[in-house]
Amino acid sequence: MQPHYEALGLQAWEWRKKPVETPAVSDWESLQQAVSQCTACGLHQGRTQTVFGVGNPQAQLMIIGEAPGFHEDQQGEPFVGRAGQLLTAMIKTMGMTREEVYIANILKCRPPNNRDPQADEVQTCTPFLHQQIALVKPQLLLAVGRIAAHYLLKTKASLESLRNKMHAYGDHNTPLIITYHPAYLLRNPADKKKAFLDLQFVMRTLRQSR
Ligand code: SF4
Repeated sequence: MQPHYEALGLQAWEWRKKPVETPAVSDWESLQQAVSQCTACGLHQGRTQTVFGVGNPQAQLMIIGEAPGFHEDQQGEPFVGRAGQLLTAMIKTMGMTREEVYIANILKCRPPNNRDPQADEVQTCTPFLHQQIALVKPQLLLAVGRIAAHYLLKTKASLESLRNKMHAYGDHNTPLIITYHPAYLLRNPADKKKAFLDLQFVMRTLRQSR
Protein backbone atom coordinates (compact mmCIF):
# COMPACT_ATOMS: atom_id res chain seq x y z
CA MET A 1 0.00 0.00 0.00
CA GLN A 2 1.25 3.49 -0.84
CA PRO A 3 2.13 5.83 2.01
CA HIS A 4 -0.47 8.58 2.17
CA TYR A 5 1.76 11.43 1.14
CA GLU A 6 2.94 9.46 -1.90
CA ALA A 7 -0.67 8.72 -2.83
CA LEU A 8 -1.17 12.48 -2.89
CA GLY A 9 1.83 12.94 -5.15
CA LEU A 10 3.93 14.36 -2.31
CA GLN A 11 7.48 13.30 -1.63
CA ALA A 12 8.39 12.28 1.90
CA TRP A 13 10.47 15.42 2.41
CA GLU A 14 7.50 17.63 1.44
CA TRP A 15 5.32 16.01 4.08
CA ARG A 16 8.03 15.96 6.73
CA LYS A 17 9.01 19.60 6.26
CA LYS A 18 5.58 20.71 7.49
CA PRO A 19 6.01 21.76 11.11
CA VAL A 20 3.91 20.52 14.00
CA GLU A 21 1.69 23.52 14.64
CA THR A 22 0.87 24.44 18.20
CA PRO A 23 -2.02 26.88 18.07
CA ALA A 24 -2.99 29.05 20.98
CA VAL A 25 -4.64 26.91 23.60
CA SER A 26 -8.38 27.32 23.60
CA ASP A 27 -10.80 26.29 26.33
CA TRP A 28 -12.75 23.05 25.98
CA GLU A 29 -16.05 24.71 25.20
CA SER A 30 -14.78 26.92 22.39
CA LEU A 31 -12.64 24.13 21.00
CA GLN A 32 -15.59 21.73 20.93
CA GLN A 33 -17.74 24.35 19.29
CA ALA A 34 -15.06 25.09 16.68
CA VAL A 35 -14.81 21.39 15.82
CA SER A 36 -18.58 20.93 15.62
CA GLN A 37 -18.84 23.82 13.12
CA CYS A 38 -15.69 23.03 11.13
CA THR A 39 -15.89 22.85 7.35
CA ALA A 40 -12.14 23.23 6.73
CA CYS A 41 -11.80 20.01 4.73
CA GLY A 42 -14.08 18.04 2.46
CA LEU A 43 -14.92 15.45 5.10
CA HIS A 44 -17.54 17.72 6.63
CA GLN A 45 -19.78 16.97 3.64
CA GLY A 46 -20.31 13.32 4.51
CA ARG A 47 -20.42 13.41 8.28
CA THR A 48 -23.46 12.80 10.45
CA GLN A 49 -21.70 14.72 13.18
CA THR A 50 -18.18 15.51 14.32
CA VAL A 51 -16.52 13.16 16.79
CA PHE A 52 -14.63 15.33 19.22
CA GLY A 53 -13.24 13.12 21.98
CA VAL A 54 -14.28 11.64 25.28
CA GLY A 55 -12.95 11.02 28.74
CA ASN A 56 -11.12 12.70 31.56
CA PRO A 57 -9.95 16.19 30.52
CA GLN A 58 -7.07 15.83 33.00
CA ALA A 59 -6.11 12.29 32.08
CA GLN A 60 -2.60 10.97 32.54
CA LEU A 61 -3.05 8.81 29.45
CA MET A 62 -4.43 10.04 26.13
CA ILE A 63 -5.27 7.46 23.47
CA ILE A 64 -5.21 8.56 19.83
CA GLY A 65 -6.70 6.74 16.85
CA GLU A 66 -6.99 7.73 13.23
CA ALA A 67 -10.58 8.71 12.40
CA PRO A 68 -14.21 7.97 13.22
CA GLY A 69 -15.84 4.97 11.58
CA PHE A 70 -19.52 4.29 10.91
CA HIS A 71 -20.62 3.77 14.52
CA GLU A 72 -18.55 6.69 15.80
CA ASP A 73 -20.06 8.98 13.17
CA GLN A 74 -23.54 7.83 14.22
CA GLN A 75 -22.96 8.17 17.96
CA GLY A 76 -20.55 11.12 18.06
CA GLU A 77 -18.09 9.25 20.26
CA PRO A 78 -14.70 7.74 19.37
CA PHE A 79 -14.12 3.99 19.64
CA VAL A 80 -17.58 2.53 19.97
CA GLY A 81 -18.77 -0.75 18.41
CA ARG A 82 -16.69 -3.93 18.64
CA ALA A 83 -13.35 -2.15 18.29
CA GLY A 84 -14.43 0.26 20.98
CA GLN A 85 -15.36 -2.60 23.29
CA LEU A 86 -11.92 -4.11 22.78
CA LEU A 87 -10.27 -0.73 23.46
CA THR A 88 -12.28 -0.50 26.69
CA ALA A 89 -11.01 -3.98 27.62
CA MET A 90 -7.44 -2.90 26.81
CA ILE A 91 -7.85 0.12 29.10
CA LYS A 92 -9.19 -2.17 31.82
CA THR A 93 -6.14 -4.41 31.37
CA MET A 94 -4.06 -1.38 32.34
CA GLY A 95 -6.06 -1.00 35.55
CA MET A 96 -8.02 2.01 34.35
CA THR A 97 -11.53 2.77 33.18
CA ARG A 98 -12.54 4.42 29.94
CA GLU A 99 -13.62 7.45 31.97
CA GLU A 100 -10.13 7.85 33.44
CA VAL A 101 -8.31 8.26 30.12
CA TYR A 102 -8.93 10.69 27.26
CA ILE A 103 -9.71 9.22 23.83
CA ALA A 104 -9.58 11.13 20.54
CA ASN A 105 -8.88 10.63 16.87
CA ILE A 106 -6.63 12.62 14.57
CA LEU A 107 -9.59 13.35 12.27
CA LYS A 108 -12.87 14.51 13.75
CA CYS A 109 -15.03 13.54 10.75
CA ARG A 110 -15.54 10.12 9.17
CA PRO A 111 -13.77 9.50 5.85
CA PRO A 112 -16.21 8.08 3.28
CA ASN A 113 -16.45 4.29 3.34
CA ASN A 114 -13.88 4.29 6.14
CA ARG A 115 -11.06 4.95 3.69
CA ASP A 116 -7.66 5.94 5.07
CA PRO A 117 -7.25 9.60 6.03
CA GLN A 118 -5.47 11.70 3.43
CA ALA A 119 -2.47 13.85 4.21
CA ASP A 120 -4.24 17.15 3.49
CA GLU A 121 -7.14 16.18 5.78
CA VAL A 122 -4.73 15.31 8.56
CA GLN A 123 -2.81 18.53 8.05
CA THR A 124 -6.04 20.54 8.29
CA CYS A 125 -7.49 18.74 11.29
CA THR A 126 -4.38 18.16 13.40
CA PRO A 127 -4.42 21.60 15.09
CA PHE A 128 -7.60 20.47 16.88
CA LEU A 129 -5.76 17.43 18.24
CA HIS A 130 -2.84 19.62 19.29
CA GLN A 131 -5.22 21.79 21.27
CA GLN A 132 -6.77 18.73 22.92
CA ILE A 133 -3.29 17.52 23.91
CA ALA A 134 -2.41 20.99 25.20
CA LEU A 135 -5.57 21.06 27.33
CA VAL A 136 -5.29 17.53 28.71
CA LYS A 137 -1.51 17.74 29.26
CA PRO A 138 -1.22 13.94 29.43
CA GLN A 139 1.88 12.31 30.81
CA LEU A 140 1.75 9.79 28.01
CA LEU A 141 0.20 9.40 24.56
CA LEU A 142 -0.77 5.97 23.22
CA ALA A 143 -1.28 5.87 19.45
CA VAL A 144 -3.33 2.90 18.30
CA GLY A 145 -2.77 1.64 14.78
CA ARG A 146 -0.39 2.11 11.90
CA ILE A 147 -2.07 5.14 10.44
CA ALA A 148 -2.15 7.16 13.67
CA ALA A 149 1.47 6.17 14.30
CA HIS A 150 2.55 7.18 10.80
CA TYR A 151 0.95 10.60 10.97
CA LEU A 152 2.00 11.41 14.53
CA LEU A 153 5.59 10.34 13.93
CA LYS A 154 5.76 11.39 10.27
CA THR A 155 7.23 8.08 9.28
CA LYS A 156 6.28 5.15 7.11
CA ALA A 157 8.11 2.60 9.23
CA SER A 158 6.25 -0.61 10.01
CA LEU A 159 4.12 -0.60 13.14
CA GLU A 160 6.12 -3.57 14.33
CA SER A 161 9.33 -1.52 14.26
CA LEU A 162 7.66 1.39 16.10
CA ARG A 163 6.36 -0.75 18.97
CA ASN A 164 8.22 -1.23 22.23
CA LYS A 165 9.99 2.12 21.91
CA MET A 166 9.47 5.45 23.57
CA HIS A 167 8.81 8.20 21.04
CA ALA A 168 8.16 11.89 21.62
CA TYR A 169 5.45 14.02 20.07
CA GLY A 170 5.08 17.73 19.44
CA ASP A 171 6.81 20.82 20.76
CA HIS A 172 6.58 19.53 24.31
CA ASN A 173 8.06 16.13 23.46
CA THR A 174 5.15 14.33 25.08
CA PRO A 175 6.12 10.66 25.50
CA LEU A 176 4.37 8.49 22.91
CA ILE A 177 3.98 4.71 22.71
CA ILE A 178 2.60 2.81 19.72
CA THR A 179 0.40 -0.28 19.70
CA TYR A 180 -2.08 -2.06 17.47
CA HIS A 181 -5.50 -0.69 16.63
CA PRO A 182 -8.25 -2.73 18.31
CA ALA A 183 -9.94 -3.25 14.93
CA TYR A 184 -6.71 -4.86 13.70
CA LEU A 185 -6.59 -7.04 16.82
CA LEU A 186 -10.14 -8.24 16.14
CA ARG A 187 -8.94 -9.44 12.74
CA ASN A 188 -5.59 -10.71 14.02
CA PRO A 189 -6.17 -12.05 17.56
CA ALA A 190 -2.75 -13.73 17.60
CA ASP A 191 -1.21 -10.27 17.99
CA LYS A 192 -3.15 -9.59 21.20
CA LYS A 193 -0.19 -10.98 23.15
CA LYS A 194 2.08 -8.31 21.66
CA ALA A 195 -0.53 -5.65 22.37
CA PHE A 196 -0.61 -6.85 25.98
CA LEU A 197 3.15 -6.29 26.20
CA ASP A 198 2.64 -2.77 24.82
CA LEU A 199 0.03 -2.09 27.49
CA GLN A 200 2.42 -3.29 30.18
CA PHE A 201 4.98 -0.83 28.76
CA VAL A 202 2.35 1.92 29.11
CA MET A 203 1.65 0.93 32.73
CA ARG A 204 5.38 0.89 33.61
CA THR A 205 5.85 4.30 32.03
CA LEU A 206 2.91 5.81 33.88
CA ARG A 207 4.10 4.32 37.19
CA GLN A 208 7.56 5.81 36.68
CA SER A 209 6.19 9.24 35.85
CA ARG A 210 4.11 9.51 39.04
FE1 SF4 B 1 -12.80 20.07 10.07
FE2 SF4 B 1 -11.34 18.01 10.86
FE3 SF4 B 1 -13.86 17.61 10.08
FE4 SF4 B 1 -12.02 18.25 8.27
S1 SF4 B 1 -12.07 16.35 9.51
S2 SF4 B 1 -14.08 19.15 8.45
S3 SF4 B 1 -10.68 19.65 9.44
S4 SF4 B 1 -13.19 18.78 11.87
